[in-house]
Amino acid sequence: MDVLSPDDERREPPASVEYETVSVPVLVIGAGAAGARTAIELAERGVDSLVVGKRDHGDAHTVWAAGGINASLGSRDPGDSWEIHAADTLAEGHFLNDPSGVELVTRTMPERIRELDEWGMDFARTEEGEIDQRYFGAQSFRRTCFVGDRTGEAILETLVARARDLGIPYRENVMVTRLLSDGVRVHGAAGYEMETGEFVLFDADAVVLAAGGHSALYDRHSSRDEENTADGAALAYEAGASLMDMEFVQFHPTGMVGDRYGEEWDGRLVTEAVRGEGGRLFNAEGERFMERYSPDQMELDARDVVARSIANEIDDGRGTENGGVLLDISHRSREFVEERLPRMTERFDSLGVDLAEEPVEVTPTAHYAMGGVDIDFATGETGVEGLYAVGEVTAGVHGANRLGGNSLAETVAVGAVVGEHLAGGIDTERRDLDGGVRAVAERHFGDLAALEASDGERSPGELIAELRDLMERYAGILRDDERLARGLAELDRVREETAGLGIEGDRRGLEFELAVDLSFMLTAAEAILRSARLRTESRGAHYREDYPEVDGDWRRNVLVRRGDTGMELSTRGVGEPSPAVQAAVEAGHELEYHHLE
Ligand SMILES: Cc1cc2nc3c(=O)[nH]c(=O)nc-3n(C[C@H](O)[C@H](O)[C@H](O)COP(=O)(O)OP(=O)(O)OC[C@H]3O[C@@H](n4cnc5c(N)ncnc54)[C@H](O)[C@@H]3O)c2cc1C
Repeated sequence: MDVLSPDDERREPPASVEYETVSVPVLVIGAGAAGARTAIELAERGVDSLVVGKRDHGDAHTVWAAGGINASLGSRDPGDSWEIHAADTLAEGHFLNDPSGVELVTRTMPERIRELDEWGMDFARTEEGEIDQRYFGAQSFRRTCFVGDRTGEAILETLVARARDLGIPYRENVMVTRLLSDGVRVHGAAGYEMETGEFVLFDADAVVLAAGGHSALYDRHSSRDEENTADGAALAYEAGASLMDMEFVQFHPTGMVGDRYGEEWDGRLVTEAVRGEGGRLFNAEGERFMERYSPDQMELDARDVVARSIANEIDDGRGTENGGVLLDISHRSREFVEERLPRMTERFDSLGVDLAEEPVEVTPTAHYAMGGVDIDFATGETGVEGLYAVGEVTAGVHGANRLGGNSLAETVAVGAVVGEHLAGGIDTERRDLDGGVRAVAERHFGDLAALEASDGERSPGELIAELRDLMERYAGILRDDERLARGLAELDRVREETAGLGIEGDRRGLEFELAVDLSFMLTAAEAILRSARLRTESRGAHYREDYPEVDGDWRRNVLVRRGDTGMELSTRGVGEPSPAVQAAVEAGHELEYHHLE
């Protein structure tokens, strides 16, 4: 039983169903940095696309990105190079990354940053007028470019302005609910207008999936509740693409926690820039505990290390009453804190906390999905003809753990490549939509109408809360086989409960959106639990208490695809980096962390 069942061509389409048909050469699903950058490249090369998203233009999860975007410009540290950036990314990803993706991103990022600068992005500058760069955790040099602590918003403003200049159409408040496939290739997508409820069939020669990640599968997460709900991963999986590295979910060390901030702020991110600018972590006993876990890198060690250290402190009873630790930057001057961390200062100020004077309470929060759709980084191809993917929805660049500042980098670097590749090969001549594909869409619209009419007892919001709770309990920072098995059993129970769904209002309302989200979330949660159970080692963000060591034989990616009877898992060995990057890995560059003090 599932909320939205897979297509079954033995079913007749409903006798009458009304919908709009929109025909475009390229449909881009998602209007964050990844979708926007892809569409810009297409437009600059003369190919029309339509971008759709669930929210208003300029409102995608990207706007929440705060601290910065990586590129080896060397403004502050001339010794930096793209090869060292690549080596840092591989080391942080515990060598599970796809080297071709890593090299593409790190090699092209200086150009992508200069381009954003030309398009008007107001990067912070050094005294000499160079684009300024700050420290981010586990990087050998200062290479994170930033606009205060509102870098994501600044990027999306810049990209949206550019897209408007190029006349790229954007259709807002559209929720895509199914990719349309004839079993061989993808021909478009089906969905509905969230304000009017109207069903829409998008007929397209190519679909670019840029629908973001799935960190909101967890109870405590750093994104908005209705964003990062695994739409992209589930849509691709249903269409026959493989998901990869789903067991790797990054828990950011510093999410807000505590009575003082209130429920609505629980899990919200305190940007890594606070530690990058010198912030220190203390337990409830006043001890700067990172000295025990990582005496050299301290608070700027990799996210998985700092998050696990905090989880240990809390587990061992040295956390605060609210289950957190304290992050303190009050040793820096007020002027410095306000200038470098304006958003954080403002946010805490509105909650009655003076960041320049007192510590804030933090605890790990689900933040980023390293896993997602398996793509070829030279093209964005997913292995399903007509379907491409880019951005947080994909896997490969970050491996077992992501370097802060690398995901914004991935969106624009890979977006440019996917746009270029598609523009080179697309046949823009429109053809009539195949009747079989139309029937797939019509059956699906019938399923959506049936979902809308559900009148059971269980609300989608309640079931999502149960799903998030089980993921937090059984697939969180510390895992073992027993917990993961329990998680799968609980997941089956939640899935069965969807038979009793009841939707208040019609499909223009939030309950209907949540019911569709639930369907996506169940798929991605199952992929995470199954992949995590298969990986019998600890690596990066995946920590198994029953297998606490890295196992060299597990330098393999776990792939999940839809089989006839359910999820099919397989593994694949990881490729090797180029000689230049391998040399940088072997040189072992390392930041002298203590000069941050
Ligand atoms: C709080 C926070 C801070 C961060 N800070 C940083 C940082 O400083 N540096 C960094 O590198 N990274 C950061 N990240 C990560 C980074 O923000 C994201 O990885 C990146 O913005 C993802 O961009 P994207 O374009 O792939 O997806 P998104 O920006 O998530 O966009 C997804 C788009 O897809 C649309 N969509 C989704 N589902 C559907 C559907 N079913 N139908 C139609 N449209 C759909 C959405 O409406 C949206 O337009 C941060 C993340 C968080 C949570």
